[in-house]
Amino acid sequence: MSERRSITILGATGSIGRSTLDLVERAPEKFEVAALTAQRDVGKLAAAALRTQAKLAVIGDPALHGTLRDALAGSEVETAAGPDAIVAAAARGADWTMAAIVGQAGLEPAMAAISAGRTVALANKESLVAAGELMIRAARDHGTTLLPVDSEHNAVYQCFPHEDPSRVRRIILTASGGPFRTWTSDEMRRATPEQAVKHPNWSMGAKISVDSATLMNKGLELIEAHHLFPVGPQRLDVIVHPQSVVHSLVEYLDGSMLAQLGTPDMRTPIAYALAWPERMETPCPPLDLAAVATLTFEAPDEVRFPALALARAALAAGGARPAVLNAANEAAVAAFLARRIGFLDIAAIVSNTLERYDPPAPATLDDVCDIDAEARRQAEQAMERLAA
Ligand code: NAD
Ligand code: MG
Repeated sequence: MSERRSITILGATGSIGRSTLDLVERAPEKFEVAALTAQRDVGKLAAAALRTQAKLAVIGDPALHGTLRDALAGSEVETAAGPDAIVAAAARGADWTMAAIVGQAGLEPAMAAISAGRTVALANKESLVAAGELMIRAARDHGTTLLPVDSEHNAVYQCFPHEDPSRVRRIILTASGGPFRTWTSDEMRRATPEQAVKHPNWSMGAKISVDSATLMNKGLELIEAHHLFPVGPQRLDVIVHPQSVVHSLVEYLDGSMLAQLGTPDMRTPIAYALAWPERMETPCPPLDLAAVATLTFEAPDEVRFPALALARAALAAGGARPAVLNAANEAAVAAFLARRIGFLDIAAIVSNTLERYDPPAPATLDDVCDIDAEARRQAEQAMERLAA
């Protein structure tokens, strides 16, 4: 009998976490679950831990530890609670770890997994945006394979000449354009959270759905691409492609373009990372090009979607700018989802925070966390000024 690979899923109850579980549970002969983590959804976490006979289940909110213990009473699943326990679960290491916690909260767990070595599948783009240099260095120092799960970066990874990046003229990330692609600024001013999270092609968590509507998601992805594919910011481009079939492209010096295509289902990029360097079957419907019939492309509108330009500027400036951008965006998106600010205020708050707060480049993970905390405080102040 061949040995099963151990799998840890950080953020197991989210959209990416559940898609990962779906694939893992279809092949119990190949995978065993080391640890599953979640922030609040005890019911889903406990059910997944029981189904997969996970060794460990960790809930982020310590007040829910009792509920988790009760739900897992009589099973062999070990339990723990609190942010430090999530980091400890990641640090235990597994053959393969999925980093799918949303936002800056995923940074320390992702770094712990990277430092534990082996393979880390990275969905949590915000951690790479805020601390890209530190993460890439840690992966190199610990001999960890970092595989991008974000569909665009996964596509680029499959087309990229890893042995010689100088062969690349351009990396082109595709963007669906989100639910407001054809809306005027005036219409967007009145957009509700319900409208913003209703993505035309992908089913995702609330935060990334709002980021897709502002195009900040594509901005974060430019920064993510910069860390994963060292070709320089000026070789990174974005094109709007409403069908979400071409997941991104690599243009070579000779004019050839390689692209990866597929149905918009995150289980394909997750399966790529799970089976790497081999391939595995997925339940994703095959791409029917005749049924899709038409693929269209258009330039992004950075006037109606100022978040993209903000992210580009942060990428060009480097240092702490991406971390400030990311933190201010997280605070503003949370406020928008809580109906405290309007849709167009999200980019305005990020811009305002970047103008007011310009700290030196972070040298350590603690620096990144301090910058993140201060940028959120400044963004909150900007929102209070807006409300006054
Ligand atoms: P989600 O909101 O559906 O799930 C987030 C997960 O993180 C949940 O398991 C939740 O319990 C956990 N979590 C939330 N806050 C936490 C905290 N403070 N501490 C610890 N755990 C916490 O999000 P998602 O859509 O699955 O996205 C996860 C990550 O993957 C994000 O960084 C997102 O940008 C990225 N991503 C998602 C998709 C997608 O299709 N959903 C595609 C590309 C990239
Ligand atoms: Mg993406």
